[in-house]
Amino acid sequence: MDRDLADVLDATVGHEDLWEHFERDTYRGREYFYLPDERHGVERGTVVVDDAIVRGYPSMPRVLVLDPGIPDAFDGPVALEEKLNGYNVRIARAGGDVLAFTRSGYVCPFTTDLARDLPLDAFFDDYPGYVVCGELVGPENPYTTHDYAEIERAGLRVFDLRERVSGEPMAVADRRECCDAYDLPQVPAFGVYDPQEAVGAVRETIADLDERGREGVVVKSADGTRAVKYTTSAIHRSDLAHAFDKPFEYGREFVFARVVREAFQAVECEESDEQVRERARALGEAILCPTVETIRAVDRGEEVGDEHTIRADPATVESLLNQFRGLGLHLDIREDYYEGDERVVTFLKVADASRDKIDHYLSGGQIDE
Ligand code: ATP
Ligand code: MG
Repeated sequence: MDRDLADVLDATVGHEDLWEHFERDTYRGREYFYLPDERHGVERGTVVVDDAIVRGYPSMPRVLVLDPGIPDAFDGPVALEEKLNGYNVRIARAGGDVLAFTRSGYVCPFTTDLARDLPLDAFFDDYPGYVVCGELVGPENPYTTHDYAEIERAGLRVFDLRERVSGEPMAVADRRECCDAYDLPQVPAFGVYDPQEAVGAVRETIADLDERGREGVVVKSADGTRAVKYTTSAIHRSDLAHAFDKPFEYGREFVFARVVREAFQAVECEESDEQVRERARALGEAILCPTVETIRAVDRGEEVGDEHTIRADPATVESLLNQFRGLGLHLDIREDYYEGDERVVTFLKVADASRDKIDHYLSGGQIDE
């Protein structure tokens, strides 16, 4: 790593030799460095590339009850925004080019290519020291499978504009205005409230989002420095269904966390016994039905895993697939064809551990528990 940049980084975070923890990678022949784990308060996924330092996106706490969770977390007005379910993306200008990074700090060829559809040049000309943070949502992306009725093409929804080096966020109202001014699409907003008032507003918003199968809300302090998340029952169930169609890929904490979220939500909503039973039934179905389906599929000799379709110029597709294979993902290519100038590939991220374990147990293998 460039010694000067390493010094800038050390100076910014007040710690020496942080750069020793960075790993090196390349993107189309270009060298970059990323921080694989949080160190000395510097976020996982922090990247150094060419002349740019881009801090990782901070992890966000969750409240299990809105009251007093929200009033306790904030002492001034809060902004409510929708929490969209896609993948976290940071976009910055480095060495003259616009690059998109995943949460872990890899340059993503697919997302970098998608970012070219956005009017980012105008934004970065005026704000070169900023990183655009957003959720990449919509169909035909290589990471997530959640669909939104109103989103026809995978695209970014901005939820933060931050100083690249310090990670300091722009205040929520300024950020929303700035995104409007530069035509950058944003996450939906649900207004600004006093913390106590926000409890009711979130409750109503969550009821509506839940009905529409959407993920939840993020409550942010007006200056953007503090945020908490809260999610719908619908997403707890769909997370579980998504995890249990490959039951041995996820840790057991994954289930426990969602059971706890559901339980606190039921209590705070003062549900009747009948309503709690209904919630329990839906939760159980979300866990058990996909697991049973998957065991049957393995029994039939089918591969299991997540299927994704991507569509992009051939070099981008090649570069993404190589990156995935380099990361050790086992891909099963289901379709691969050209449409005009674009290459379209449908692939399965094969869930090897699930398939192997299910095979083993189906043929009588023993489990130590
Ligand atoms: P953590 O935040 O602890 O790292 P995680 O990676 O599992 O957890 P989530 O539970 O999905 O993430 O919650 C935080 C993420 O939500 C953010 O990193 C961001 O990608 C996404 N997100 C979606 N909508 C918003 C929004 N309006 N504001 C902030 N983040 C949002
Ligand atoms: Mg998420």
